Amino acid sequence: MKYVSTRGHAASQSFTDILLEGLAPDGGLMVPEQWPRIMPVKFQAMRDLAYPQLAFEILRFFAADYPGAELKQAAFKTYTAKAFGAPEITPLRTLEPNLHILGLSNGPTLAFKDIAMQLLGNLFEQVLERQDRTLNILGATSGDTGSAAEHALKGKARLNVFMLSPRGRMSPFQRAQMYSLADANVFNIAIEGMFDDCQDIVKRVSSDLAFKEAHRLGAVNSINWARVVAQVVYYFKGYFPATRSNDEQVSFAVPSGNFGNIFAGYVAKRIGLPIRRLVLATNENDVLDEFFRTGRYHPRKAADTHATSSPSMDISKASNFERFIWDAVDGDGDKVTWLWKQVEEDGGFDLSTDKAWEKIEEDSGFVSGRSTHEDRIATIRLVKQRYAQVIDPHTADGVKIALRMREPRYPMICLETALPAKFDETIVEALGEHAPRPARFEGLERLPQRVEVMAPDAEAVKRFIGTHALA
Ligand SMILES: *Cc1c(COP(=O)(O)O)cnc(C)c1O
Repeated sequence: MKYVSTRGHAASQSFTDILLEGLAPDGGLMVPEQWPRIMPVKFQAMRDLAYPQLAFEILRFFAADYPGAELKQAAFKTYTAKAFGAPEITPLRTLEPNLHILGLSNGPTLAFKDIAMQLLGNLFEQVLERQDRTLNILGATSGDTGSAAEHALKGKARLNVFMLSPRGRMSPFQRAQMYSLADANVFNIAIEGMFDDCQDIVKRVSSDLAFKEAHRLGAVNSINWARVVAQVVYYFKGYFPATRSNDEQVSFAVPSGNFGNIFAGYVAKRIGLPIRRLVLATNENDVLDEFFRTGRYHPRKAADTHATSSPSMDISKASNFERFIWDAVDGDGDKVTWLWKQVEEDGGFDLSTDKAWEKIEEDSGFVSGRSTHEDRIATIRLVKQRYAQVIDPHTADGVKIALRMREPRYPMICLETALPAKFDETIVEALGEHAPRPARFEGLERLPQRVEVMAPDAEAVKRFIGTHALA
């Protein structure tokens, strides 16, 4: 299988080619030239597979060029009960008949991003070894992505990680998760500024192509294709225990920010998983909800992005959304280019009168809704009272909309994107008690921390990387 750019003007590439890359050279994102299709016999055989084998079988559809034995080894090394707390990796919990929560957040940093990131760490290590090269990862984080990346890449050979975070703006738990890492290949840089300042510095440093080449800079951001594919796996894994036979349809509710998680659900549907509805849930940052209700896409400026109690969904521009639009316009790269030119010049586009909109409304399965802080607090309370479970504010976004959109005949699976322990303040507000904390995180905030504090100055960051990067 080959990959092409959503903008239609980049040479096609293999899975291995795009594994370490970000944007395509024409500014688009890489997507499969055509969707693989999982045959019924194969699908039937998947029902009883353990997670690592299932992951291998699904990844293989998208990674034809990748050595099979290595891919299998990466999947088995990644998806262990030890790393993810349960042999199922993503256990399904039933709240009541046809209402479930898919536990995606039992990995090392207690958010669903571990599932893809842990695999990515092992694939990176293999490719760097095979190609006899090194890589210096540069990233910016407001919390979950950075810690998931660091915990996936720590201690890996041929790799250093430089992660910028806004000083004093993450929760004490998130800070401790990153800054307490003692591995020599992890460099935490706290910037005296906001998340946007961190993001700007990463952009500035990466756009210095000579510097980027000289220091072999790479990224692990949300547009990484392997991350999307790794997330396709748990839609399958969640489907089987919620159904008895493979002709049943299920719906999924997904708290969304960069559109990576729910886009993986769309890919699962595209390759043959019988998904009825993909329920997209946003918080007050509701650009995507607006699109799926009206056909109009108007991303906000960073300054108009609200800071909410589900902070990992406080996104102004959903980076993976372009992949979905590419599919909706039947892979017409020139049309995607034209639409994103409208985003640049006019602040957005309107598909409501386009034939692509009919297709989205009729075939894509997407429905959407938004929640407010009060909705999330009420949902956390409701789930505690009715089902004796504590969910985090992101998962509550999804559950809130799922309860509105569910149909009695079809199972609804709500994706749990983080554990409540990460967002204790909101849990205390909702329930008047602390979130349950897995035993291995007791005393996390008291571990010694290591972080470099810097002014929001790209040149200073470059000097630091220059001194500490792997050659
Ligand atoms: C990243 C994240 C999200 C949003 O996922 P996307 O793939 O960006 O849509 C939701 N919840 C939590 C807890 C996250 O960390």
